[in-house]
Amino acid sequence: MSRILVSACLLGERVRYNGASAAADSGILEHWLAEGRVVSFCPEVAGGLGVPRPAAEIAGADGAAVLAGEARILTRAGTDVTGQFLRGATLALDAARTQGVRLAILKDGSPSCGSTTIHDGTFTGTRRTGNGVTTALLERHGIRVFSEQEFEAASAYLAGVEE
Ligand code: SF4
Repeated sequence: MSRILVSACLLGERVRYNGASAAADSGILEHWLAEGRVVSFCPEVAGGLGVPRPAAEIAGADGAAVLAGEARILTRAGTDVTGQFLRGATLALDAARTQGVRLAILKDGSPSCGSTTIHDGTFTGTRRTGNGVTTALLERHGIRVFSEQEFEAASAYLAGVEE
């Protein structure tokens, strides 16, 4: 049975930078939980960052650029947290590989978990198209990432890989 990596905050865990969760309301997710497919993971906490923690954004680039060593992740005060984000992404990939994960549902907009948009590095609430660091690493290794707006598409993808 394929397993599904899910952002811990989407499962109601209070691990976001501001100490909140972002619990997803989805019948598909409930079904996957009942089947025992769900692997809960928060890359930023796994990477060593606390809760709460200062918000951080990729500075003018995306997760792929961070993986390539061409961009950094900074807090508003300018603290470089790139290392913690990269560690969290690596640990997410390790967890996915060891637990038979084929796809992921990750919280969009996050510098770790974003899959359609991320913040643009200006701390003004402005989003740009792009992936977070964990999303970029998972997809590089063949694990398809969907956002919390894409449960239907993820369910169809799962059905396809399990045919
Ligand atoms: Fe949620 Fe991902 Fe941010 Fe953790 S790193 S709080 S799982 S969006």
